[in-house]
Amino acid sequence: MSKTEQFFSLLYQLNRNYGQGVSTFGACSTDGCKQSGRGSGRCADCCEREIAVLINDGDVAFQIRDYTRKASEAIGEAVFKLENNN
Ligand SMILES: [Zn+2]
Repeated sequence: MSKTEQFFSLLYQLNRNYGQGVSTFGACSTDGCKQSGRGSGRCADCCEREIAVLINDGDVAFQIRDYTRKASEAIGEAVFKLENNN
C-alpha cells in the first residue's frame, strides 16, 4: 500500500469514529491502546497519531481530526433539524 493509500485508509478509519447514528464502540484494534474505536476498529487518537507519523506533521494531523469531528457535529445538527421539522 502506498503512503497515499495508507493516508486515505487512516482517514476512512478516522471518519468511522465520527459517524452518524447509533453505533457500537469497542476496544481499539491497536495493540496496547486502552481507547475505544467504532466497531472495535482503530480509535480516533490512534488514527490521528498514525496520520501524524505518516505525513510527519502533527499540526496537520490534528487539524484533520478536528475538522472531521466538527463536520460530523454539524452534520448531526443538520439531521436533527431535518428530523424535527426545523
Ligand atoms: Zn487506539
